[in-house]
Amino acid sequence: MPRIEVHKDHCKGCGLCIDICPPGVIEMSKEINKLGYHPAKYKGEGCTGCTLCFYTCPEPDAIVVYRKD
Ligand code: SF4
Ligand code: SF4
Repeated sequence: MPRIEVHKDHCKGCGLCIDICPPGVIEMSKEINKLGYHPAKYKGEGCTGCTLCFYTCPEPDAIVVYRKD
């Protein structure tokens, strides 16, 4: 199944990926990362591999999309 990984210490918590994700499978983590932000995190299921989050994220290394296992 498609999935994403958020590299939490590269995320600045802008929320753009959360707003753009069609199935709504990204949320804000309650934890604080090394930059002092609440990072985005994958809810764990439902990703379609559309890559919208990847192309929307302003931080180059924050999101990786795996379209296949
Ligand atoms: S690849 Fe698409 S469906 Fe998967 S988390 Fe990103 S925006 Fe959502
Ligand atoms: S778009 Fe990128 S920087 Fe913004 S919350 Fe999502 S992963 Fe973090």
